[in-house]
Amino acid sequence: MKKKTETAKVPLHEAFGLNVRTLKLWWKLYPAMFLSATAYTLVSTFLPYVGLYFSAKIIDELAAARRPEVLLQLVLATLLITAAMSLGKAALERWKNHERTGWFSKDDKLYSEKLLSLDFCALDAPRTHELLSQIRQNDQWFGWGIRMPMRQFEALLTALFQIGGSVALTASLFTLSVPSGPLMVLNSPLSAALSVAVLLAATLLVPALSNAGSIYWASYADKAKEGNRKFGFYGFAACDRRRALDTRVYRQDILCQKSFLSQNLFGVKSDIAKLAHGPIGMYSATSAAVSYAFTGLVYIFVCLKAWGGAFGIGAVTQYVGAITLLSGGVASFFSTLGEMRVNAAFLRTTYEFLDIPNTMYQGSLTVEKRADRKYEIEFRDVSFRYPGAETWALRHVSMKFRVGERLAVVGRNGSGKTTFIKLLCRLYDPTEGEILLNGIDIKKYNYTEYLSVFSVIFQDFKLFAFPVGQNVAASADPNRARVEECLKKAGLDERLKEMPLGVDTCLYKDFDEQGVEISGGEGQKIAIARALYKDAPFIIMDEPTAALDPVAEYEIYTKLNEIICDKTAIFISHRLSSCRFCDEIAVFDGGTVVQKGAHEALLSEDSGMYKALWFAQAQYYTKDTADRSAV
Ligand code: ADP
Repeated sequence: MKKKTETAKVPLHEAFGLNVRTLKLWWKLYPAMFLSATAYTLVSTFLPYVGLYFSAKIIDELAAARRPEVLLQLVLATLLITAAMSLGKAALERWKNHERTGWFSKDDKLYSEKLLSLDFCALDAPRTHELLSQIRQNDQWFGWGIRMPMRQFEALLTALFQIGGSVALTASLFTLSVPSGPLMVLNSPLSAALSVAVLLAATLLVPALSNAGSIYWASYADKAKEGNRKFGFYGFAACDRRRALDTRVYRQDILCQKSFLSQNLFGVKSDIAKLAHGPIGMYSATSAAVSYAFTGLVYIFVCLKAWGGAFGIGAVTQYVGAITLLSGGVASFFSTLGEMRVNAAFLRTTYEFLDIPNTMYQGSLTVEKRADRKYEIEFRDVSFRYPGAETWALRHVSMKFRVGERLAVVGRNGSGKTTFIKLLCRLYDPTEGEILLNGIDIKKYNYTEYLSVFSVIFQDFKLFAFPVGQNVAASADPNRARVEECLKKAGLDERLKEMPLGVDTCLYKDFDEQGVEISGGEGQKIAIARALYKDAPFIIMDEPTAALDPVAEYEIYTKLNEIICDKTAIFISHRLSSCRFCDEIAVFDGGTVVQKGAHEALLSEDSGMYKALWFAQAQYYTKDTADRSAV
């Protein structure tokens, strides 16, 4: 199937459907936005008509009867109504702006909720991230995407109210006749029809020209997105904390600047600058010229009728003003419809992301709460292939985790260790075979319930710029004594004493000047404390001491019994010496378990993979250090 690009024209019915869907979505998410915008638009659009109507009446009175009491009444009415409406407009604007501040975060929330609710395999898919990045870039480029229909809704409302008000004030222009003389020709239905035709032609031409211009902006979207992405990358390279050291030492900022400038994406000689000079400028200037020419024609028609005596001088200002507003309203109505169609292409991307389906079966069983923590997990002939991959990442894996025992998972890179843990946490479902918790397929459990039996320390764990206590408890209301106890078990008690606010000290300085920067090893200890705080029956550790120095690693291993307690533990480790304390070691190779058993037994298998790995590593240690790290 041919891939639809964002700059392709969307069929009308589809564009209509996408815009209606977006407006319904906003109505559901934020009805106050709609109400405030509608009320404000109504009052602000009608305000100029009040002025037009009353000034026409006042001018007519001044030009004819000049009755002081009538003039006074008209002036007072104008002042009072205008003042009341202006006050109302100000109050409604305040309401609308207030609601708008809350509106800005709504779409971010929509996207993050979608991401959080996605099956992990969908979250992991490159297309998901590509879509998300496109959505962000479209928004940055021109505000294209899901917010745009809300702005367009306001523009459409304004245009419709403007058209309604203008038609009401203009109708009598065609019904009032020139009483006598050659200008009576203007009374004929033909002249009225001609006037309406000119009105329509001009009002349709103006938005058509302006739309032709905006299509060029949209057509530049792909390049602009690329430009924004490159600008974000090269322009901020020097500010990126992760790259700051390399950038300074090797002056990569100069390289970045040169590279960005050489691509000429936004400069004065760039394609977008040429478009702005050329067709975009031409279309917009022609559109303005047609609009002014039309206003001139309106003046001539209205003045001729007034000259012939059809109405007074005051009505001239009313008609000219109202028709100009009418033409502006119709033009804006059609140009907004055109923009909605252009934006529909960007909405396609938004909904492709929001409509990503969840295909994993969601069970509803609760996990039995057992005081004896006897939870047994079994892999029964499990095979797994990543979506789209041709080779098996795991093949025919059968294994039972015995309650309260320690299992080490070892093997070379790419042998399937991480995949095994991903399946255990049900981030993916097996392609073949099944995984059972206490004899029941894990798919049948409610997923949140199922996850509650695991504490995981990932190798690339992430902490947040929150207080230490909140990080450990993963809660805004941590149990301080328990947090401190877990930090002590993880070996961070000395460092904690140095922190200015103890467990209330913020990690990192992103949001708090008193925040503390921590080393990789300290972060890993906090991650271990977080796993301990959760106190789940299973604890999974993926290279739990990778970022620790040898002394800290030694401390952790000596405390391991205390840390694990009665939990069932699963370790992934490259350092075989650190797996010796485990009851059982499973050796992975090419996605299958090639050996299983205790350290000594595995080492005695001369042709086994374990022995080969063990001696390959041992040669890097002196006998001393090998023995020490093997404690
Ligand atoms: P290990 O943790 O032992 O280093 P992994 O479980 O990460 O190994 O990888 C096992 C196999 O699965 C490897 O061949 C790897 O290339 C492949 N693999 C891992 N992640 C993905 C993924 N997201 N998509 C496709 N293949 C993957």
